[in-house]
Amino acid sequence: MSNADRSLVLIGGGHSHVEVIRRLGLHPPPRTQLILISRERYTPYSGMLPGFVAGHYRFSDMHIDLARLCERAGATFIQDAAIGLNRTERRVRCQRHSPVAYDFLSLDIGSTPQAIPGDSDNAVAVKPIPRFRERWLALLERIQDLREPREPLSIAIVGGGAAGVELILAMHYRFNQLERPGLQAPPRFSLFTRSTDILPTHNALVRRQFRRLLAKRNIELHTGCEIRKVANGWLEDGNGRRHPADETLWVTGAQGAPWLMETGLALDSAGFIQVGPTLQSVSDPRILAAGDIASLVDHPREKAGVIAVHQGPPLARNLLAALTGNDLTPYHPQRHWLSLISTGDRYAVASKGRWYLAGRWVWRWKDYIDRRFMARYQDG
Ligand SMILES: Cc1cc2nc3c(=O)[nH]c(=O)nc-3n(C[C@H](O)[C@H](O)[C@H](O)COP(=O)(O)OP(=O)(O)OC[C@H]3O[C@@H](n4cnc5c(N)ncnc54)[C@H](O)[C@@H]3O)c2cc1C
Repeated sequence: MSNADRSLVLIGGGHSHVEVIRRLGLHPPPRTQLILISRERYTPYSGMLPGFVAGHYRFSDMHIDLARLCERAGATFIQDAAIGLNRTERRVRCQRHSPVAYDFLSLDIGSTPQAIPGDSDNAVAVKPIPRFRERWLALLERIQDLREPREPLSIAIVGGGAAGVELILAMHYRFNQLERPGLQAPPRFSLFTRSTDILPTHNALVRRQFRRLLAKRNIELHTGCEIRKVANGWLEDGNGRRHPADETLWVTGAQGAPWLMETGLALDSAGFIQVGPTLQSVSDPRILAAGDIASLVDHPREKAGVIAVHQGPPLARNLLAALTGNDLTPYHPQRHWLSLISTGDRYAVASKGRWYLAGRWVWRWKDYIDRRFMARYQDG
């Protein structure tokens, strides 16, 4: 057994925590047991999910093996879901494992999709990604196994942010690469967003480029259209109109994990943990949070993987400072960051503030950045 007399517990193997584990593995804090609790052993990198759907990446390209990462860093990996906190006794409650004691705690558990209205058997949320991945692979198999001619499938995506747009273009590309012996025609794709335009947080040039692309690929776009009900074979919008949908992917705004409501931590209106500039919870300085689950009280930002990645180094520094009794350093998130949005066919658009670039080389640039990020945490 180690000679540790205190423990740092990390919940969630998200984009910030993989960097924390890597850094604390290289420079281990004295007499500290480092424990990671995460639901899955293989944590997905969502930036590569559209490329996986399009068929450009394999499972191993877009996943980090957390057990191996922990082993290399001398950390303990517990594959389980955290379901509660006892902040008085400083213990994490898990679904199966016995409670895990902590001196300092950090959460990087991502966001939870909003509930799908209606029959959720006919729709799948993009997160958790492992469930979406299984459903997607099953759909691909079903289509390839079809032998009887049938009507074209209708595939709907609800959500017009970058993730929804990238995924519909990736699916469209992949279906057009498949042999579909039983299908009379390629699937019909539709994208629904309640906003007046797709990609509302991006500049007008980026939005126009993607509207044109959707039209060019015959993907129906329904803006200002809120889906209120999912049923077997169709979706119903706020005006009571029905739209055909054999498969629906739900990629709308997200919220904090419901179990956090019982922890007594200060949460924002969407259930995300409110943190100050040092990434400490505003209600409990022993608890830090980063990535989607953290809501920066002084610098609100949209939920993005880039932000979670950027928060890895300051989170690691501040956890180390907390463990060694030093002052924590404030973190200032960028106001604008680079988004690289892929279009399914090894082409991508770069967007930052009012700035816009597009091309095959942008996809190669994105591919390089994503692979370089992954290589840091994979065996090499
Ligand atoms: C298709 C798609 C494409 C995207 N592309 C981009 C992009 O190109 N650029 C960009 O900036 N953003 C992108 N995003 C947004 C990005 O996915 C998120 O902002 C990012 O994943 C947040 O990272 P995170 O570290 O907060 O959490 P996550 O990456 O969601 O990781 C959370 C981890 O915590 C684990 N976990 C969750 N709950 C528990 C629990 N209770 N107990 C234990 N473990 C738990 C999960 O299993 C997971 O491993 C994309 C999103 C999607 C869906």
